[in-house]
Amino acid sequence: MSKLSFRGGIHPLKEKHEGKEATKSKPIRPYVPEEVCIPVDMHLGAPSIPCVKKGDLVKLGQVVAEPAGPRGIPVHASVSGEVTAVISKQQLYGKPSTCILIRNDKQDTWVDCHILGDVETAPADKIIGAIRDAGICGMGGACFPTHAKMVLPEGKTVDTILLNGSECETFITADHRLMLEEPQRVVNGLRAAMRAMGVQKGVIAIEENKMDAYEAIKKAAAGREGISTALLKTKYPQGGEKQLIKAVTGREVPSGGLPMDAHVVVLNVATAAAITDAVTEGKPSIARITTVTGIVNEPSNLLVRIGTSVSELITACGGTSEEPGKLFFGGSMTGLALPDDSVSVTKANNCLVVVNKKDAALQETTECIRCSRCIAACPIMLNPQRLNILCEAGNLGQAKKENVMDCILCHSCHYVCPARINFPFKEAKEKIAARRI
Ligand code: SF4
Ligand code: SF4
Repeated sequence: MSKLSFRGGIHPLKEKHEGKEATKSKPIRPYVPEEVCIPVDMHLGAPSIPCVKKGDLVKLGQVVAEPAGPRGIPVHASVSGEVTAVISKQQLYGKPSTCILIRNDKQDTWVDCHILGDVETAPADKIIGAIRDAGICGMGGACFPTHAKMVLPEGKTVDTILLNGSECETFITADHRLMLEEPQRVVNGLRAAMRAMGVQKGVIAIEENKMDAYEAIKKAAAGREGISTALLKTKYPQGGEKQLIKAVTGREVPSGGLPMDAHVVVLNVATAAAITDAVTEGKPSIARITTVTGIVNEPSNLLVRIGTSVSELITACGGTSEEPGKLFFGGSMTGLALPDDSVSVTKANNCLVVVNKKDAALQETTECIRCSRCIAACPIMLNPQRLNILCEAGNLGQAKKENVMDCILCHSCHYVCPARINFPFKEAKEKIAARRI
């Protein structure tokens, strides 16, 4: 069987840094918290506007914050119970978020749900609206509102929807377990998206380190109109949109372009499963699968209500075997460090990793030895060593000319660098965008 791939990247599996062993065989386990703290700014775009207040009783799936702006999506109650506060609270680093606190009455009393129908027969022109009303945004981590991705600007065309099941980041096994345990939900979501966009071709792409999930999806997709599967080499960042499109279709997304410029829309497999729930059950996005791993005593794949705190996740996994040194959401390549364990799980958070103090200590950076490993590893064919010199010197204009804005912040260059250089490309991109250089 041929396996598809792209140029550059790294091989954490070969180097035994993949970190998936502890959870890849753990079935999905639901966890219901005592209280949720739901941020209203989980998606990319303007934050939603709270429409409940302290003392209100809410049902599961009820809208608690209304959409704002053209890409806006609503936020829903992830438990039934009483609103105990609407507060401003620090989540990740940066500005605090407006959050809605709800005490769980443990009744799971659902709001009335509007069912569109079976994915093959539901009115195609109503599906994108149902996705928006369900508050679905990219569950692979990007959190871009899904309905906005599916409405193409004038003059753009798409002939393929690509479902991203590569899960190439270290530690994360949430999508693996979803595809293995609920493959029909994934396939149905793809069919609904294809019908909504009028696209004839759908491909579900999975890395070869998840053969059991690949076989489950292949079986579920058999006989479904326009759907095929693609087996990918295990390599990071195979799940990057540009790398995935290149590997599966052979097409290049142009510099500064989007997947639609290669006539492709990429959706995550968990997003597809959420689309199925919205169409066939009228249920909004109120929970997600999150891998909890590292020094927790029972590494797990939890089905978590949105707004559950990190401290509750750690408790649900039996606590930690030693004192934590660092907490981060996501894998070790692109993960985001957390300020503390009171942070809430959002629609984007597919993994929580708890590391000990020794592993949390920063490695010392030394001088560049001009080995070129970073150049070979860069999947975008940039020259990270030279870009680093330009950014450190403050020459952002030249860095832009040499395409630093195309950097996908995958950290492959840092991973292979023997000098452990922390390439400053995120900050450089932000400065260039803010100053309009
Ligand atoms: S990998 Fe590190 S040491 Fe090697 S050339 Fe790149 S920046 Fe320099
Ligand atoms: S320069 Fe950017 S895209 Fe290239 S390896 Fe480094 S982080 Fe990844």
